[in-house]
Amino acid sequence: MTAPEMTAPCIAVRRDDVVPICPFCETDLPEIYLRKLHRSFGMGRGFIVFCPHCRKVMGSSAQWYPFPG
Ligand SMILES: [Zn+2]
Repeated sequence: MTAPEMTAPCIAVRRDDVVPICPFCETDLPEIYLRKLHRSFGMGRGFIVFCPHCRKVMGSSAQWYPFPG
């Protein structure tokens, strides 16, 4: 029997009715900005996600869907 605390489920719930809030400027974010990262450090393609208001970066990720443009 494995440790039960390691198998706790995490359920993703789609909530298109909830608007995210920027953790920095606490502005409602009906939209967020994405920007492509260049191949500068040999990390491959990716993008960063940032706030349109304060422009602080909220996260980055490898590219997991076709980036527009
Ligand atoms: Zn912000």
